[in-house]
Amino acid sequence: MSALDAIASFIDRAPRLQPGHVWLAGAGPGDPGMVTLDVVAALGQADVVVHDALIDARVLKLAADAELVDMGKRGGRPSPAQGEINGRLVALARAGRRVVRLKGGDPFVFGRGGEEALALAQAGVPFRVLPGLTSALGALAAAGIPATMRGINHAVTFATGHAVGTGDDLDWAALARTGQPLVVYMGMRKIEAIAAALVDGGLPGDTPAAVIASATTGAERTAVATLSTIAAEVARQDIGAPALIVVGRIVEMREKLGRDRPGGGR
Ligand code: SAH
Repeated sequence: MSALDAIASFIDRAPRLQPGHVWLAGAGPGDPGMVTLDVVAALGQADVVVHDALIDARVLKLAADAELVDMGKRGGRPSPAQGEINGRLVALARAGRRVVRLKGGDPFVFGRGGEEALALAQAGVPFRVLPGLTSALGALAAAGIPATMRGINHAVTFATGHAVGTGDDLDWAALARTGQPLVVYMGMRKIEAIAAALVDGGLPGDTPAAVIASATTGAERTAVATLSTIAAEVARQDIGAPALIVVGRIVEMREKLGRDRPGGGR
């Protein structure tokens, strides 16, 4: 059996997406190669796909016969309120549709998939969660930065920068005290404040820091600096979202692995 036949047979035997059910699926960080076979099988069975912005067109094509509903932020329009998305998912399921809710990365990592699952559970709509590769893992691999490295770290924290400066913010000083590396999602607009909070919390200003933008896509860009200089470096190189901030000595591995050079051995 060829590999293609084996994949086809896997997809044929995948669990059936029933009418009135919703599958919350992760599309991975961007590269279509990082979509799981479960998600490929789900898209092939959907009759409606409710998707976020930034999902690669080649991935959406896997939902050949499905209606596509774009619930992402586009062209300066405000993104739909979470309640509106939850309501839409419940309504589509109640209308007897086979629904795939397709989100970037993993649906349960900073993607509000938990809220969507809760809304479905409360409405009595049957659902399944199909994990995806979260962008931190895709980005670290692409940048040549191991998430954990013997002799450097015993833990790695995934944090969100979206609440910086609000009453709901993280205790960045406590994170700094762990001395363990951090990967910060949704932190680009507050990168200066995040770096300053970590330095105030006791991390040396010369701690290595990187920003990895549009990881695994054709637009991928990586900047490496230190906690003191990363905000200025990102501004200088004009690097924007979507991007992750990585803080800690694991960042030094990028140079050791030769990934800092053009082509980076890839
Ligand atoms: N559920 C998603 C995260 C959603 S929050 C996941 O598991 O990856 C959105 C944030 O994810 C962005 O602000 C950015 O920090 C990060 N992100 C998503 N895709 C990315 C990519 N291709 N490269 C870098 N960061 C990305």
